[in-house]
Amino acid sequence: MLGSGPDRNRLLGCQALGKLRLAGSDFSSKENPPFKRLRQLSWKWRTIRSSTRVEGQPLNLLGQVEADAGIMDGKTRKGAGVALLHGTKNPIRLAKIVMEKTDHALLAGIGAERLGEAFRLPKANLKIPERVYQWKQAKQRFGKGDLGDLSKNLRLIRSKGQSLLGDTVGALAIDQNGDLAAADSTGGVSLKLPGRIGDSPIIGAGFFADNRLGASTATGVGEIAMRLVVSKSACDAMQALTAQQAASRTVKRVTEIEGRGLGIITLDRKGRYGVAHNTPHICWASVSKSRGLASRMHR
Ligand code: ASP
Repeated sequence: MLGSGPDRNRLLGCQALGKLRLAGSDFSSKENPPFKRLRQLSWKWRTIRSSTRVEGQPLNLLGQVEADAGIMDGKTRKGAGVALLHGTKNPIRLAKIVMEKTDHALLAGIGAERLGEAFRLPKANLKIPERVYQWKQAKQRFGKGDLGDLSKNLRLIRSKGQSLLGDTVGALAIDQNGDLAAADSTGGVSLKLPGRIGDSPIIGAGFFADNRLGASTATGVGEIAMRLVVSKSACDAMQALTAQQAASRTVKRVTEIEGRGLGIITLDRKGRYGVAHNTPHICWASVSKSRGLASRMHR
């Protein structure tokens, strides 16, 4: 899934769906080297990993990358988030290390990156030209008085002398044993204040998975997702509702309480998925052995 935002994000959304198409169809192939390491993981984690690859990240007010990510295992109900990463190539992998190899549930900044180095995780420059272009566009819109979804924040910036654009990727998976997993990865929102952490590394806000309930992950304005603990709420709703009903109900509640700015995907214990959003659009894809690949851009 890819988050809210103007037209240019639709392009990125389509690109991401194209990659998922590749990843989904590659699970059965024994030949493709990029997926060699993925094949050492279970199907559930391979799906999560390959569907949350992103190129570059949105930039903060100073033009720097500060990426967040989170992951949760529905079987053990263990989860962890990582935040404020500058150069870790795949933040989801680092979140999985925090979840499995430490006693913590959230690790940020230099300390988190040091842990990644200890596990020899690859580094990458996530400040790619596409993101710099988006950042410049957002700054231009801001200059013209478009305060986007962070109006309070940006009014503050303006008064102190200096539009929201984000694109989280989220993934949910269920295997033949009914074990669920959820994960997400993001650079947050463009022009965010340095040091800002969104919903994506926060269990219950950006992501949640529990085999007894379902799995869910959110995109959009992280502050809304945190205030309404949306991913946990959607999972709680799946105790009685289908994935689609739970997603729709959660977004309806968000619209009533907070207004626009949120999207969510859900997966219930029976493997049914749901999508709902009140953002301008959302891109999603699903892949299963029996039903193959389906992908769509919701407007
Ligand atoms: N939820 C993310 C954040 O607020 C942004 C996004 O979904 O695009 O950090």
